[in-house]
Amino acid sequence: MGAGPAGAAAAHVAASRGLRVALVDKARFPRDKLCGGGFTGRSYLYFTEIFGEEIPARLIETKTAVEFHADGQPLGLLPQIPPMHLTMRVDLDAEMQRRALAAGARDFSGCRVSQIDTATPALVLADGRRLSARVLIGADGVNSQVAKALFGRSYDRAQIGFGLEVEATPGPDNAAAPLRIDFGAADWGYGWHFPKRESSTIGIGGVLSRNADMKASMAAYLYRLGRDPALPCKGHHLPFGEVRKTPGRRAVLLAGDAAGLVDPITGEGIAYAMKSGQLAALAAAEALAEGAPASALRRYRKALRPVHRAMRQARAIRVLLFSRLFRPAFIAAFRGSGRLRHLYMRLLAGEIEYGDMARATLRRLPGFLLRGLQMGDSGRAGDKRS
Ligand SMILES: Cc1cc2nc3c(=O)[nH]c(=O)nc-3n(C[C@H](O)[C@H](O)[C@H](O)COP(=O)(O)OP(=O)(O)OC[C@H]3O[C@@H](n4cnc5c(N)ncnc54)[C@H](O)[C@@H]3O)c2cc1C
Repeated sequence: MGAGPAGAAAAHVAASRGLRVALVDKARFPRDKLCGGGFTGRSYLYFTEIFGEEIPARLIETKTAVEFHADGQPLGLLPQIPPMHLTMRVDLDAEMQRRALAAGARDFSGCRVSQIDTATPALVLADGRRLSARVLIGADGVNSQVAKALFGRSYDRAQIGFGLEVEATPGPDNAAAPLRIDFGAADWGYGWHFPKRESSTIGIGGVLSRNADMKASMAAYLYRLGRDPALPCKGHHLPFGEVRKTPGRRAVLLAGDAAGLVDPITGEGIAYAMKSGQLAALAAAEALAEGAPASALRRYRKALRPVHRAMRQARAIRVLLFSRLFRPAFIAAFRGSGRLRHLYMRLLAGEIEYGDMARATLRRLPGFLLRGLQMGDSGRAGDKRS
């Protein structure tokens, strides 16, 4: 259920293995999804692995430079980062859904689900049709009704993240402009400007409970970028570090945002949605081949371990980046160390994981922080927030 990156990947993998698959979504495709459209090296790799070929060039544009800012101050430009791709979700998601259908999944787009029976499992559609399944994959996003049916709620309000975004008129230099990341544009989060051919995607995202007035932060960010602060923006929850330890029950599996699989630092979710969709479908196929659909969750949990480990590590590191106590030192270290900036971009691009980043920085961490604290002390004279 759900035909975004998680559901389309799951349906493609399951149908390619000869399983009978119904791909159900309340929307008709192409449909939009609020998202920066940052398509990292990790996403690129998973797309290729899952759909059997590289993402078509028409769906992405590639950037190799990024500039960082913190609290309005420039932190430096990295002119040669590993490739970071940008996409428009309306096109990307339609492409993935199309591929899943071409692999043999049956098209139930435009079908709202009115009832979910997690025991059987089965879905009742708004038009009264009942779809019974041996395994149900809930890939229905952050407001997951499948998660709600299983656990009583889709997400935890105290933990959830939120993003505001606008597709603004593209700047004349968008083709050559670097990506821009602004720490501090939102509390426990950041702001972004992704300059694309057709639009300038501008947004902020962070932990909702720590951002009392996100609209005001967004207006301030737009103003800082020289844009009209009153531009109409859209908002959407994102499970920013709110991983579901138990992603389902027996023959009902949760994937993507429904399982809380968004990086707690970068907010990246497309790659983890595709990956978890793939792993859920493989677990389902194995369980069905063994004639034991209820064993699907056990198999899926095992396969998800590396993803869960990466999320746990990121959550631990997040305190260093975002908490009031450590952030000034981190920002100062970031400003002073090209190596730290480069590691961050390699992480974002999917070239390294948090474990690699932690190992690479651990030896240097005391030096980074000490230098950062010294620079932070001298740089923030009079900054009462720190
Ligand atoms: C502001 C913002 C910016 C972001 N920027 C990035 C970024 O730059 N890069 C990145 O990697 N990630 C980004 N993300 C995260 C990313 O958008 C998500 O992690 C990703 O879309 C998750 O995919 P999914 O398939 O799990 O869910 P979704 O893409 O949300 O898909 C869920 C699908 O389920 C369907 N559905 C929902 N309920 C029902 C129902 N009751 N019946 C039938 N169908 C239903 C929906 O119509 C939808 O098609 C961002 C998120 C936000 C909010």
